Amino acid sequence: MLINKLFDTAIIGGGVAGTSLLFTLARYTDLKNIILFEKYDEVSQLNSNPKANSQTLHVGDIESNYTFEKAKKVKRASSMVSNYIQNFGEVNRCGFRGDKMLLAVGEEEIAKLKERYEEFKELYPYLELWDEEFLREFEPNLLKERKEPILAMGARGQITTVDYKLLSESFVQEALDTDKNIQMRYHEEVTKIERDRDGSYKITTDTTMFRAKSVVVNAGAYSLLFAQSLGYGEEYAILPIGGSFFFTKEKFLNSKVYTMQNPKLPFAAVHADPDCTKDWNTRFGPTAFALPKLERYHALHLKDLISALNIDKSVTKVYMKLFKDKTIRNYIIKNFLEEIPHFGKEIFIRDARKIIPSLNAEDLEFAEGYGGMRPQIIDKKSQELLLGEAKIEDGGLIFNMTPSPGATSSLAIALKDAQSVCKVLGVTFDSLKHKNEIESLLPHNKQSQIKERIIA
Ligand SMILES: Cc1cc2nc3c(=O)[nH]c(=O)nc-3n(C[C@H](O)[C@H](O)[C@H](O)COP(=O)(O)OP(=O)(O)OC[C@H]3O[C@@H](n4cnc5c(N)ncnc54)[C@H](O)[C@@H]3O)c2cc1C
Repeated sequence: MLINKLFDTAIIGGGVAGTSLLFTLARYTDLKNIILFEKYDEVSQLNSNPKANSQTLHVGDIESNYTFEKAKKVKRASSMVSNYIQNFGEVNRCGFRGDKMLLAVGEEEIAKLKERYEEFKELYPYLELWDEEFLREFEPNLLKERKEPILAMGARGQITTVDYKLLSESFVQEALDTDKNIQMRYHEEVTKIERDRDGSYKITTDTTMFRAKSVVVNAGAYSLLFAQSLGYGEEYAILPIGGSFFFTKEKFLNSKVYTMQNPKLPFAAVHADPDCTKDWNTRFGPTAFALPKLERYHALHLKDLISALNIDKSVTKVYMKLFKDKTIRNYIIKNFLEEIPHFGKEIFIRDARKIIPSLNAEDLEFAEGYGGMRPQIIDKKSQELLLGEAKIEDGGLIFNMTPSPGATSSLAIALKDAQSVCKVLGVTFDSLKHKNEIESLLPHNKQSQIKERIIA
């Protein structure tokens, strides 16, 4: 087998996580040789594909499942993506401006929404409370046939929607436009990572063997399998949660509409989103149901699934704990029923009607070919289902697991990993340049300067 030259960093996985790291390393560090492996023939064919996720830039302002602390973190992370989109001239290509709101239905939710507004308005000064009179003009379908009172907390003209596949492609292009040696290995599946005696890593693919001084694995659920093959992360297991969507046959809304979270449920409440792949038609979802697969629309590798599930006594206890709770149990059953062809939408319509009360089952169709798999992590030690991202790190070896809002957080995760890699390899990270271009929004004339420099 051919052994290739020694790379500074090898990235495994060409989703939005892997490509944002490629961009960050190429543009803001002194690293010279970077290689990225992607097992499919394009970037972002799995969860970072716009058909797999909700295309939301999660800012934390309308996500009522986030605490104040989580919202603060997500706000900072999401600003990096929106700054990139604006500073690098990607508005209306990968990132789209729109309106968005969190909708409260009924007196109880309205009271909670008002409380939330008071708590969050300092963090998001642009948020407004929208009453029925405003909403009747702004989004009339929210009020048609509505019996209960509503109130919304919303924002206008924000970057709300991101095509994370186009964003990944943009990251790759920016990396290739630097003077670094960047190798993109598409259609090349990494099968093994081994530590070498000299501290570097051997990366074996279906055809070749490569060596790298540092390795970052951004391979979704497979990140944990690679970690475990090297003796890390034995305390984790994956609970693969599928998420499906329903389209309306015609466009019903112009804004993203999120609903108030039931605090007992681990996954975000159903929302309605104008879809950038379907002429901005309204897409409802995602549902949440356990599915024995790691990739929604690709062949199942049973061995990988069994390893990821990592079922033992503590994992079973977590399943039992989830199923014992009546609210969660009903939620699991309901979401499972929603997957049944034709019948499913009759169940789903109840959630969708919270947003558009006049909606009929005939107005909805199952979004065939849409949906993804969230690799939710179970911590076997604490016997808890972890929500959000997880990282395992040992020197120049990093494994990222990135359920929602992992796409939104991609540049923030990349920043942390790039700094760690630089520290381990003793190279410089250009913090000032990163601060100017990614952590701040450039004045409008400077934004076009970046683009002109790139084109030149
Ligand atoms: C239903 C749903 C809705 C969501 N909505 C949102 C949202 O609105 N906003 C948001 O921010 N996040 C959302 N998320 C989460 C978001 O999609 C993910 O956090 C994000 O896409 C993860 O990116 P990633 O690059 O880590 O993983 P992926 O996009 O899954 O990429 C992993 C890559 O690794 C490659 N790979 C795997 N194994 C190997 C190997 N052995 N060799 C080479 N390559 C390999 C895969 O082919 C793939 O391209 C949602 C997720 C789901 C499922």
